Amino acid sequence: MAKHTVTLIPGDGIGIETSAAMQRVVEASGAEIEWEIAEAGASMVEACGTPLPDSTIEAVRRNGVAIKGPVTTPVGEGFRSVNVALRQALDLYVCLRPVLSIPGAGGRYDDVDLVIVRENSEDLYAGIEFEEGADETRELIEFCRSAQAGAIRPDSGISIKPVSVTATRNIVRYAFEYALEHGRSKVTAVHKANIMKHTDGLFLRVAREVAKRYEGRIEFDDRIIDAFCMNMVIDPTQFDVIVFPNLYGDIASDLGAGLVGGLGIAPGANIGDGCAVFEAVHGSAPDIAGKNLANPTAEILSAAMMLDHLGETACASRIRKAVCQVYAEGAVLTADIRKATGSTHAAASCTEFTDALVAALTS
Ligand code: ATP
Ligand code: MG
Repeated sequence: MAKHTVTLIPGDGIGIETSAAMQRVVEASGAEIEWEIAEAGASMVEACGTPLPDSTIEAVRRNGVAIKGPVTTPVGEGFRSVNVALRQALDLYVCLRPVLSIPGAGGRYDDVDLVIVRENSEDLYAGIEFEEGADETRELIEFCRSAQAGAIRPDSGISIKPVSVTATRNIVRYAFEYALEHGRSKVTAVHKANIMKHTDGLFLRVAREVAKRYEGRIEFDDRIIDAFCMNMVIDPTQFDVIVFPNLYGDIASDLGAGLVGGLGIAPGANIGDGCAVFEAVHGSAPDIAGKNLANPTAEILSAAMMLDHLGETACASRIRKAVCQVYAEGAVLTADIRKATGSTHAAASCTEFTDALVAALTS
Protein backbone atom coordinates (compact mmCIF):
# COMPACT_ATOMS: atom_id res chain seq x y z
CA MET A 1 0.00 0.00 0.00
CA ALA A 2 1.34 3.42 -0.93
CA LYS A 3 1.80 5.88 1.88
CA HIS A 4 -0.43 8.95 1.54
CA THR A 5 0.36 12.37 2.95
CA VAL A 6 -2.75 14.04 4.34
CA THR A 7 -3.07 17.48 5.92
CA LEU A 8 -4.72 17.25 9.33
CA ILE A 9 -6.34 20.39 10.70
CA PRO A 10 -7.35 19.27 14.23
CA GLY A 11 -9.59 22.30 14.78
CA ASP A 12 -10.71 23.37 18.25
CA GLY A 13 -13.54 22.65 20.71
CA ILE A 14 -14.43 18.95 20.44
CA GLY A 15 -12.24 18.84 17.31
CA ILE A 16 -9.20 18.22 19.52
CA GLU A 17 -10.82 15.03 20.88
CA THR A 18 -12.55 13.82 17.70
CA SER A 19 -9.44 14.36 15.53
CA ALA A 20 -7.25 12.35 17.92
CA ALA A 21 -9.87 9.55 17.92
CA MET A 22 -10.03 9.65 14.11
CA GLN A 23 -6.23 9.29 13.82
CA ARG A 24 -6.22 6.23 16.10
CA VAL A 25 -9.02 4.54 14.13
CA VAL A 26 -7.45 5.26 10.72
CA GLU A 27 -4.15 3.83 11.95
CA ALA A 28 -5.91 0.73 13.30
CA SER A 29 -7.57 0.21 9.90
CA GLY A 30 -4.14 -0.44 8.39
CA ALA A 31 -4.12 2.66 6.20
CA GLU A 32 -0.66 4.13 5.77
CA ILE A 33 -1.11 7.84 6.29
CA GLU A 34 1.51 10.44 7.04
CA TRP A 35 -0.25 13.27 8.85
CA GLU A 36 0.96 16.78 8.18
CA ILE A 37 -0.51 18.96 10.93
CA ALA A 38 -1.73 22.45 9.98
CA GLU A 39 -3.45 24.83 12.34
CA ALA A 40 -6.47 27.10 12.00
CA GLY A 41 -8.75 28.95 14.41
CA ALA A 42 -8.74 31.58 17.10
CA SER A 43 -5.40 30.40 18.53
CA MET A 44 -3.72 31.40 15.25
CA VAL A 45 -4.85 35.03 15.40
CA GLU A 46 -2.22 35.98 17.97
CA ALA A 47 0.58 34.08 16.22
CA CYS A 48 -0.22 34.87 12.59
CA GLY A 49 -2.78 37.69 12.67
CA THR A 50 -5.37 35.51 10.95
CA PRO A 51 -7.41 32.45 11.94
CA LEU A 52 -6.59 30.84 8.58
CA PRO A 53 -2.85 31.21 7.84
CA ASP A 54 -1.70 31.01 4.19
CA SER A 55 0.60 28.16 5.23
CA THR A 56 -2.49 26.07 6.13
CA ILE A 57 -4.16 26.77 2.78
CA GLU A 58 -0.87 25.96 1.01
CA ALA A 59 -0.50 22.68 2.93
CA VAL A 60 -3.94 21.51 1.77
CA ARG A 61 -3.19 22.60 -1.80
CA ARG A 62 0.13 20.75 -1.81
CA ASN A 63 -1.27 17.44 -0.51
CA GLY A 64 -4.64 17.71 -2.30
CA VAL A 65 -6.36 15.94 0.60
CA ALA A 66 -7.10 17.13 4.12
CA ILE A 67 -9.22 16.15 7.07
CA LYS A 68 -10.39 18.83 9.41
CA GLY A 69 -11.95 19.03 12.86
CA PRO A 70 -14.47 21.81 13.49
CA VAL A 71 -13.16 25.34 14.02
CA THR A 72 -15.11 27.79 16.20
CA THR A 73 -16.12 31.07 14.60
CA PRO A 74 -15.70 33.70 17.33
CA VAL A 75 -18.83 35.83 17.41
CA GLY A 76 -18.55 39.54 16.66
CA GLU A 77 -14.75 39.77 16.33
CA GLY A 78 -14.78 40.90 12.74
CA PHE A 79 -13.54 37.76 11.01
CA ARG A 80 -15.58 35.32 9.08
CA SER A 81 -16.01 31.58 9.53
CA VAL A 82 -12.73 29.73 8.95
CA ASN A 83 -14.72 26.81 7.59
CA VAL A 84 -16.31 29.03 4.93
CA ALA A 85 -13.02 30.87 4.20
CA LEU A 86 -11.18 27.57 3.56
CA ARG A 87 -13.92 26.37 1.18
CA GLN A 88 -13.69 29.65 -0.72
CA ALA A 89 -9.86 29.85 -0.78
CA LEU A 90 -9.58 26.34 -2.28
CA ASP A 91 -12.73 26.59 -4.44
CA LEU A 92 -14.29 23.54 -2.77
CA TYR A 93 -17.57 24.04 -4.56
CA VAL A 94 -19.20 20.75 -3.56
CA CYS A 95 -20.32 19.81 -0.08
CA LEU A 96 -21.15 16.10 0.02
CA ARG A 97 -23.01 14.70 3.01
CA PRO A 98 -24.27 11.11 2.98
CA VAL A 99 -27.16 10.40 5.36
CA LEU A 100 -27.14 6.72 6.22
CA SER A 101 -28.93 4.80 8.98
CA ILE A 102 -26.67 3.01 11.43
CA PRO A 103 -28.66 0.33 13.28
CA GLY A 104 -28.38 1.01 17.01
CA ALA A 105 -27.65 4.75 16.65
CA GLY A 106 -31.14 5.80 17.71
CA GLY A 107 -32.41 7.11 14.36
CA ARG A 108 -36.10 7.55 13.64
CA TYR A 109 -35.72 5.24 10.60
CA ASP A 110 -33.66 2.11 9.92
CA ASP A 111 -33.42 2.41 6.18
CA VAL A 112 -32.31 5.93 5.24
CA ASP A 113 -29.68 6.01 2.50
CA LEU A 114 -29.54 9.38 0.77
CA VAL A 115 -26.89 11.87 -0.25
CA ILE A 116 -27.00 15.62 0.25
CA VAL A 117 -25.11 17.60 -2.40
CA ARG A 118 -24.86 21.20 -1.22
CA GLU A 119 -23.56 24.11 -3.30
CA ASN A 120 -20.64 25.40 -1.27
CA SER A 121 -19.52 28.75 -2.72
CA GLU A 122 -22.35 31.26 -2.95
CA ASP A 123 -25.95 32.01 -1.87
CA LEU A 124 -26.31 33.74 1.52
CA TYR A 125 -22.98 32.16 2.55
CA ALA A 126 -21.12 34.50 0.16
CA GLY A 127 -20.70 36.80 3.15
CA ILE A 128 -21.73 39.96 1.29
CA GLU A 129 -23.37 41.90 4.09
CA PHE A 130 -24.30 45.49 4.83
CA GLU A 131 -24.51 46.65 8.41
CA GLU A 132 -27.56 48.44 9.72
CA GLY A 133 -26.99 52.21 9.66
CA ALA A 134 -23.79 52.15 7.51
CA ASP A 135 -23.45 54.61 4.59
CA GLU A 136 -23.35 51.80 1.98
CA THR A 137 -26.50 50.29 3.48
CA ARG A 138 -28.30 53.63 3.21
CA GLU A 139 -27.16 53.95 -0.43
CA LEU A 140 -28.38 50.44 -1.19
CA ILE A 141 -31.76 51.16 0.40
CA GLU A 142 -32.01 54.38 -1.62
CA PHE A 143 -31.05 52.54 -4.82
CA CYS A 144 -33.78 49.92 -4.26
CA ARG A 145 -36.31 52.68 -3.63
CA SER A 146 -35.37 54.72 -6.72
CA ALA A 147 -35.22 51.63 -8.96
CA GLN A 148 -38.67 50.69 -7.62
CA ALA A 149 -37.22 47.33 -6.60
CA GLY A 150 -39.00 47.55 -3.27
CA ALA A 151 -39.05 49.43 -0.01
CA ILE A 152 -36.54 48.44 2.67
CA ARG A 153 -36.93 49.84 6.19
CA PRO A 154 -34.12 52.31 7.00
CA ASP A 155 -33.11 50.39 10.12
CA SER A 156 -32.36 47.18 8.18
CA GLY A 157 -29.21 45.11 7.85
CA ILE A 158 -28.87 43.47 4.43
CA SER A 159 -27.35 40.19 3.23
CA ILE A 160 -26.93 39.54 -0.49
CA LYS A 161 -27.90 36.19 -2.01
CA PRO A 162 -26.00 35.59 -5.25
CA VAL A 163 -26.89 32.43 -7.22
CA SER A 164 -25.06 32.02 -10.53
CA VAL A 165 -25.72 29.90 -13.62
CA THR A 166 -22.10 28.72 -13.48
CA ALA A 167 -22.10 27.49 -9.86
CA THR A 168 -25.57 25.96 -10.21
CA ARG A 169 -24.58 24.11 -13.39
CA ASN A 170 -21.43 22.80 -11.69
CA ILE A 171 -23.21 21.55 -8.57
CA VAL A 172 -26.15 19.97 -10.39
CA ARG A 173 -23.82 18.29 -12.87
CA TYR A 174 -21.80 16.96 -9.91
CA ALA A 175 -24.99 15.53 -8.37
CA PHE A 176 -25.90 13.70 -11.59
CA GLU A 177 -22.36 12.40 -12.16
CA TYR A 178 -22.26 11.23 -8.54
CA ALA A 179 -25.59 9.42 -9.06
CA LEU A 180 -24.27 7.68 -12.20
CA GLU A 181 -21.00 6.69 -10.60
CA HIS A 182 -22.62 5.33 -7.43
CA GLY A 183 -25.53 3.46 -9.03
CA ARG A 184 -28.20 5.83 -7.74
CA SER A 185 -31.40 6.42 -9.66
CA LYS A 186 -32.79 9.87 -8.84
CA VAL A 187 -31.71 13.49 -8.28
CA THR A 188 -34.05 15.92 -6.50
CA ALA A 189 -33.41 19.70 -6.67
CA VAL A 190 -34.65 21.72 -3.68
CA HIS A 191 -35.47 25.44 -3.89
CA LYS A 192 -37.94 28.22 -3.13
CA ALA A 193 -38.38 29.26 -6.77
CA ASN A 194 -41.94 30.49 -6.24
CA ILE A 195 -40.71 33.30 -3.95
CA MET A 196 -37.12 34.07 -5.10
CA LYS A 197 -37.50 33.98 -8.85
CA HIS A 198 -34.07 35.34 -9.81
CA THR A 199 -32.03 33.17 -7.46
CA ASP A 200 -33.89 29.97 -6.59
CA GLY A 201 -35.83 30.32 -9.85
CA LEU A 202 -32.52 30.38 -11.70
CA PHE A 203 -31.33 27.36 -9.68
CA LEU A 204 -34.41 25.37 -10.71
CA ARG A 205 -34.22 26.42 -14.37
CA VAL A 206 -30.54 25.46 -14.65
CA ALA A 207 -31.16 22.19 -12.76
CA ARG A 208 -33.87 21.28 -15.28
CA GLU A 209 -31.53 22.09 -18.18
CA VAL A 210 -28.76 19.88 -16.75
CA ALA A 211 -31.28 17.10 -15.95
CA LYS A 212 -32.27 16.87 -19.66
CA ARG A 213 -28.78 15.60 -20.49
CA TYR A 214 -29.29 12.65 -18.13
CA GLU A 215 -32.83 11.79 -19.27
CA GLY A 216 -33.43 8.04 -19.46
CA ARG A 217 -30.46 7.38 -17.18
CA ILE A 218 -31.19 9.30 -13.96
CA GLU A 219 -34.66 10.41 -12.85
CA PHE A 220 -35.14 14.05 -11.85
CA ASP A 221 -37.68 15.90 -9.74
CA ASP A 222 -37.79 19.05 -7.60
CA ARG A 223 -39.29 20.15 -4.28
CA ILE A 224 -39.95 23.44 -2.59
CA ILE A 225 -37.81 23.60 0.57
CA ASP A 226 -40.71 23.78 3.05
CA ALA A 227 -42.53 20.82 1.50
CA PHE A 228 -39.21 19.01 1.27
CA CYS A 229 -38.70 19.33 5.04
CA MET A 230 -42.10 17.86 5.75
CA ASN A 231 -41.51 15.01 3.31
CA MET A 232 -38.10 14.24 4.79
CA VAL A 233 -39.62 13.80 8.23
CA ILE A 234 -42.56 11.72 6.97
CA ASP A 235 -40.54 9.44 4.69
CA PRO A 236 -36.85 10.10 3.97
CA THR A 237 -36.58 6.86 1.98
CA GLN A 238 -38.29 8.56 -0.99
CA PHE A 239 -35.08 10.57 -1.60
CA ASP A 240 -31.87 9.45 -3.24
CA VAL A 241 -29.42 12.20 -4.29
CA ILE A 242 -30.63 15.70 -3.32
CA VAL A 243 -29.04 18.91 -4.62
CA PHE A 244 -29.40 22.22 -2.76
CA PRO A 245 -28.28 25.83 -2.86
CA ASN A 246 -25.90 26.55 0.03
CA LEU A 247 -28.15 27.64 2.92
CA TYR A 248 -30.95 25.10 2.44
CA GLY A 249 -28.25 22.41 2.15
CA ASP A 250 -26.81 23.51 5.48
CA ILE A 251 -30.16 23.27 7.24
CA ALA A 252 -31.16 20.02 5.51
CA SER A 253 -27.85 18.46 6.62
CA ASP A 254 -28.78 18.84 10.29
CA LEU A 255 -32.31 17.63 9.52
CA GLY A 256 -30.89 14.55 7.80
CA ALA A 257 -28.47 13.94 10.69
CA GLY A 258 -31.35 14.22 13.17
CA LEU A 259 -33.31 11.51 11.36
CA VAL A 260 -30.53 8.93 11.69
CA GLY A 261 -29.24 9.59 15.23
CA GLY A 262 -27.84 13.11 15.35
CA LEU A 263 -24.82 15.25 14.52
CA GLY A 264 -22.51 12.81 16.28
CA ILE A 265 -22.66 10.40 13.32
CA ALA A 266 -22.97 12.71 10.28
CA PRO A 267 -19.88 12.80 8.01
CA GLY A 268 -19.07 15.06 5.08
CA ALA A 269 -16.62 16.27 2.47
CA ASN A 270 -15.85 19.54 0.71
CA ILE A 271 -14.67 18.84 -2.80
CA GLY A 272 -13.15 20.97 -5.57
CA ASP A 273 -11.37 20.18 -8.83
CA GLY A 274 -7.95 20.14 -7.16
CA CYS A 275 -8.50 19.37 -3.47
CA ALA A 276 -10.83 17.67 -1.03
CA VAL A 277 -11.27 18.53 2.65
CA PHE A 278 -13.17 15.97 4.74
CA GLU A 279 -15.04 17.15 7.83
CA ALA A 280 -17.99 16.25 10.05
CA VAL A 281 -21.27 18.13 9.65
CA HIS A 282 -21.19 19.31 13.27
CA GLY A 283 -19.44 22.37 14.68
CA SER A 284 -17.07 22.67 17.62
CA ALA A 285 -19.84 22.07 20.24
CA PRO A 286 -18.34 24.36 22.91
CA ASP A 287 -20.87 23.07 25.47
CA ILE A 288 -19.20 19.65 25.65
CA ALA A 289 -15.64 20.50 24.54
CA GLY A 290 -12.72 19.29 26.66
CA LYS A 291 -14.89 16.87 28.66
CA ASN A 292 -14.17 13.66 26.71
CA LEU A 293 -17.92 13.42 25.94
CA ALA A 294 -17.93 14.01 22.17
CA ASN A 295 -18.95 11.34 19.72
CA PRO A 296 -16.08 10.97 17.21
CA THR A 297 -18.12 8.85 14.74
CA ALA A 298 -18.84 11.77 12.37
CA GLU A 299 -15.16 12.59 11.93
CA ILE A 300 -14.25 8.88 11.73
CA LEU A 301 -16.83 8.29 8.96
CA SER A 302 -15.48 11.43 7.24
CA ALA A 303 -12.07 9.71 7.34
CA ALA A 304 -13.65 6.62 5.73
CA MET A 305 -14.90 8.88 2.90
CA MET A 306 -11.34 10.25 2.65
CA LEU A 307 -9.87 6.73 2.40
CA ASP A 308 -12.34 5.92 -0.42
CA HIS A 309 -11.19 9.11 -2.16
CA LEU A 310 -7.54 7.98 -1.77
CA GLY A 311 -8.40 4.58 -3.26
CA GLU A 312 -7.99 2.80 0.08
CA THR A 313 -11.46 1.30 -0.13
CA ALA A 314 -10.64 -1.83 1.91
CA CYS A 315 -9.52 0.29 4.89
CA ALA A 316 -12.64 2.47 4.51
CA SER A 317 -14.87 -0.62 4.54
CA ARG A 318 -13.11 -2.00 7.60
CA ILE A 319 -13.80 1.25 9.47
CA ARG A 320 -17.50 1.30 8.49
CA LYS A 321 -17.85 -2.34 9.49
CA ALA A 322 -16.25 -1.68 12.90
CA VAL A 323 -18.56 1.32 13.46
CA CYS A 324 -21.64 -0.78 12.59
CA GLN A 325 -20.44 -3.57 14.89
CA VAL A 326 -19.94 -1.29 17.92
CA TYR A 327 -23.36 0.37 17.40
CA ALA A 328 -25.10 -2.97 16.87
CA GLU A 329 -23.56 -4.41 20.04
CA GLY A 330 -24.75 -1.31 21.90
CA ALA A 331 -22.54 -1.76 24.96
CA VAL A 332 -20.14 1.17 24.40
CA LEU A 333 -21.90 4.27 23.09
CA THR A 334 -21.41 8.00 23.75
CA ALA A 335 -23.91 10.16 25.64
CA ASP A 336 -25.58 11.67 22.52
CA ILE A 337 -26.46 8.19 21.24
CA ARG A 338 -27.56 7.01 24.66
CA LYS A 339 -29.98 9.92 24.65
CA ALA A 340 -31.16 9.22 21.08
CA THR A 341 -31.79 5.55 21.84
CA GLY A 342 -33.43 6.27 25.20
CA SER A 343 -31.03 3.84 26.86
CA THR A 344 -30.36 4.07 30.58
CA HIS A 345 -26.90 2.45 30.39
CA ALA A 346 -23.90 4.53 31.47
CA ALA A 347 -22.47 6.53 28.58
CA ALA A 348 -18.99 5.84 27.26
CA SER A 349 -16.42 8.61 26.94
CA CYS A 350 -14.95 9.58 23.58
CA THR A 351 -11.83 7.60 24.51
CA GLU A 352 -13.75 4.48 25.60
CA PHE A 353 -15.81 4.52 22.40
CA THR A 354 -12.60 4.88 20.35
CA ASP A 355 -11.01 1.98 22.28
CA ALA A 356 -14.01 -0.19 21.31
CA LEU A 357 -13.60 0.73 17.64
CA VAL A 358 -9.87 0.05 17.69
CA ALA A 359 -10.54 -3.31 19.37
CA ALA A 360 -13.13 -4.19 16.69
CA LEU A 361 -10.59 -3.29 13.99
CA THR A 362 -7.67 -5.19 15.42
CA SER A 363 -9.36 -8.31 16.87
P1 ATP B 1 -20.42 25.85 15.88
O1 ATP B 1 -20.70 27.28 16.11
O2 ATP B 1 -18.94 25.54 15.79
O3 ATP B 1 -21.23 25.23 14.77
P2 ATP B 1 -22.40 24.86 17.74
O4 ATP B 1 -22.54 25.44 19.10
O5 ATP B 1 -23.38 25.20 16.68
O6 ATP B 1 -20.88 25.09 17.22
P3 ATP B 1 -22.56 22.17 16.88
O7 ATP B 1 -21.28 21.44 16.96
O8 ATP B 1 -23.02 22.60 15.55
O9 ATP B 1 -22.45 23.33 17.96
O10 ATP B 1 -23.64 21.20 17.54
C1 ATP B 1 -24.80 21.57 18.21
C2 ATP B 1 -24.95 20.66 19.44
O11 ATP B 1 -25.00 19.28 19.06
C3 ATP B 1 -23.74 20.78 20.36
O12 ATP B 1 -23.92 21.81 21.24
C4 ATP B 1 -23.65 19.42 21.00
O13 ATP B 1 -24.43 19.36 22.15
C5 ATP B 1 -24.22 18.49 19.94
N1 ATP B 1 -23.12 17.83 19.20
C6 ATP B 1 -22.56 18.25 18.04
N2 ATP B 1 -21.58 17.44 17.64
C7 ATP B 1 -21.49 16.46 18.55
C8 ATP B 1 -20.66 15.29 18.71
N3 ATP B 1 -19.72 14.99 17.81
N4 ATP B 1 -20.86 14.53 19.80
C9 ATP B 1 -21.81 14.82 20.71
N5 ATP B 1 -22.62 15.88 20.61
C10 ATP B 1 -22.48 16.70 19.56
MG1 MG C 1 -23.55 24.54 14.49
